[in-house]
Amino acid sequence: MKRVIRTCVSCGVKREKTELIRFVYSDEPQEDAKGNRQGRGAYVCDNEKCREIGLNRKKLTRSLLSNQLRRTR
Ligand SMILES: [Zn+2]
Repeated sequence: MKRVIRTCVSCGVKREKTELIRFVYSDEPQEDAKGNRQGRGAYVCDNEKCREIGLNRKKLTRSLLSNQLRRTR
């Protein structure tokens, strides 16, 4: 099994993708339970605090943008 590590955008902890919740930001942040929605995604820990920050933080947009840039290089 391939381990996919993602960083929680709220607290910065690195975890396996399966342990994190994916958010997708299209018109508004949405939880992406199946991990297949279109749009920019970000991962947060599966706890209330990180979810809340993930949904609300403006900083998130910036981190998403820089992730996007890195990926497309
Ligand atoms: Zn977290």
